[in-house]
Amino acid sequence: MERMNADLRRARDLVTGASRITALTGAGISTDSGIPDFRGPNGLWTRDPEAEKLSNLQDYLASGDVRRRAWQARLGHPAWEARPNPAHDAFVALQRGGTLTAIVTQNIDELHQRAGSAPETVIELHGTMFHTECLGCGDRRDMSEALDRVRAGTDDPPCAVCGGILKSATISFGQALDAAVLDRARVAAISCDVLVAAGTSLTVHPAAGLVDIAVGTGASVIICNASPTPYDDVADVVLREPLAEVLPQLT
Ligand SMILES: [Zn+2]
Repeated sequence: MERMNADLRRARDLVTGASRITALTGAGISTDSGIPDFRGPNGLWTRDPEAEKLSNLQDYLASGDVRRRAWQARLGHPAWEARPNPAHDAFVALQRGGTLTAIVTQNIDELHQRAGSAPETVIELHGTMFHTECLGCGDRRDMSEALDRVRAGTDDPPCAVCGGILKSATISFGQALDAAVLDRARVAAISCDVLVAAGTSLTVHPAAGLVDIAVGTGASVIICNASPTPYDDVADVVLREPLAEVLPQLT
C-alpha cells in the first residue's frame, strides 16, 4: 500500500467513501482473460477488417457466407473457455461490500457473472453471446444448442420454430439496443455517486453517454483504461495501469 501512487489513493478514497457505485466495463477488462478486443493493437478487427462484417446486421441478413463465417467464429470463440481475471473479481468484492449496485457492461462474454457478480445486477448493453435469438420470431435459446447443430454439419442453422435467421443475442451494428436494458443502465448512471469506467474507450454511444449522465448528477468518475478516452477531462481520477493490477487495489 505504501507504494500506492497519488491517483490510485484518490481513486481508492472515492470508492471507499461511496454509498452507491456503478461500474461501466468494456472489452479491456476481458483481454486479460484471453478475449481480444476489437480495435486495439491485437484487436479482432485490426487484424482482420473483414471480420467486422460478421457484426453488421445488414451484411449478416444479406449473406449466407457472412453467417457461415459468423457461426465458425462463434464456434471457436475464446469466451467459452475463458476464466474471469482479478479485475472481474475486484467488482465482485465491491459488490459483497454492498456499495457496488450495478455493473453496466459492453461485453457479451458473461465473465462478470462467472466471476460471481449477481446476474440481476449485470446490465448487458450489447447482449450476450450465450444465447441465440431468432431475427424472425424472437425465439431465444442457449447458444450451445445452435453450436451443436453447427458441429453436426448445419453450417447456418435456421430457427427451430419458424425457420428464420438465427444470430447470437448480441447487438450488431445497425441493430437498436434493448430499450429496457438501456433504461436500467441510465437509472444506474443517475443513481450512483461514483462511476467506475473500466476497460472501455468510451467512444461508443450510448454507453459513453452514461458518463455524461453520471457527471450531470454530480457523481465522481474514475476512469481506468490503458489509452486516453474522450472523458478523461471530466474524470476525477484517470488510471492507466493494467486493470487486473489496479482494480483489486480499489477494494
Ligand atoms: Zn424463429
